[in-house]
Amino acid sequence: MNMLAHTQEILGRLVAFPTVSSDSNLDLIAYAADLLSDAGAALSLSRDESGSKANLFATLGPPGDGGIVLSGHTDVVPADPSEWTSDPFTLTERGGRLYGRGTCDMKGFIAAALAMAPRFAESGLTRPLHFALTYDEEIGCFGARALVGEIANAGIKPAVAIIGEPTGMGVIEGHKGCYEYTTEFTGLEGHGSQPDRGINAVEYAARYITRLLDLGEQLKARAPEGSRFDPPWTTVQVGRIGGGTARNVIAGACSVEWEMRPVRLDDAAYVKSSLGSYVDTELLPAMRAVSPHCGIVTHVIGEVEGLQVVGESEARDIVRELTGCDHADVVPFGTEAGLFQSAGISSIICGPGSIAQAHKPDEFIAVDQLAACLEMLDKLHQKLRA
Ligand SMILES: [Zn+2]
Repeated sequence: MNMLAHTQEILGRLVAFPTVSSDSNLDLIAYAADLLSDAGAALSLSRDESGSKANLFATLGPPGDGGIVLSGHTDVVPADPSEWTSDPFTLTERGGRLYGRGTCDMKGFIAAALAMAPRFAESGLTRPLHFALTYDEEIGCFGARALVGEIANAGIKPAVAIIGEPTGMGVIEGHKGCYEYTTEFTGLEGHGSQPDRGINAVEYAARYITRLLDLGEQLKARAPEGSRFDPPWTTVQVGRIGGGTARNVIAGACSVEWEMRPVRLDDAAYVKSSLGSYVDTELLPAMRAVSPHCGIVTHVIGEVEGLQVVGESEARDIVRELTGCDHADVVPFGTEAGLFQSAGISSIICGPGSIAQAHKPDEFIAVDQLAACLEMLDKLHQKLRA
């Protein structure tokens, strides 16, 4: 069987595992582990706290440092079959396109990497080639965060990570971070006719949001010189607010769901410390003057680092050489690349399919995109063969 047909067959198997982020990915991981161990890879599996999800880290070639990581997340966003032309978890070919949940985001890349594993193994490799398959990317990159820590704990220092998110095989060298929070305000309920006897959680939330929006304006002035992002600065956004019980009752509780998309780590630290000191020096003292039980607590839902554009990048050099692409872009969506980069691994994003089809009904990957990905991996094979 040729490599493209083999890749499609593997992709069909991967799509058939309904690895929605809320569910287990263990069956998919077991299948991938079998393929990689058949190819002779050394495997390392690790589970999350629930035990229902796992990361797989597999290595071909010599052990040690300086390797290249091919990274993909195994989870997918949910699919409502009533919105799909064909079953989302059955790979279906129509007109040169392969339809199914996760085909472009990002089981297509994983299928190509798995299909190529035996070929990489056959010829011997001059440096380690790692396969990193992770869980829970779509809900906060929790698997990749754990995996990066495990690699470091194992004393392995890969040099390069290629994250195969759908870029149409273009080279992406930067994206913003994605920091998500829920801030809960606990007030003191009371009759609406005597607002001074209670603490109105909704009103304190409004003050907090106002400060956050002021910071959002300040961030515009902090846009880094030459930033290529759109918009070029760090943004903040309040997505959801919920609180209070009725018009004439002092609101006892309020929660605010907000996010920040930093263009650099400094901005994130600036927003967090500015908000923190506003809470500690103004809001909390005013609340607690009325009742010591009032409070403001911020829960971190996820803090996914951005991928910072750097001057020297081995990952960019390699992928540009493999794809023949002479430039590199930045994108607005987040990936696991920033986590690998912050672990000291030169990181780049390049994979088959288009982000325009991700997270939608009738998600697909074009067959020629899979072929282009195989071509890139084959060039990598030529480059790494002993
Ligand atoms: Zn993805």
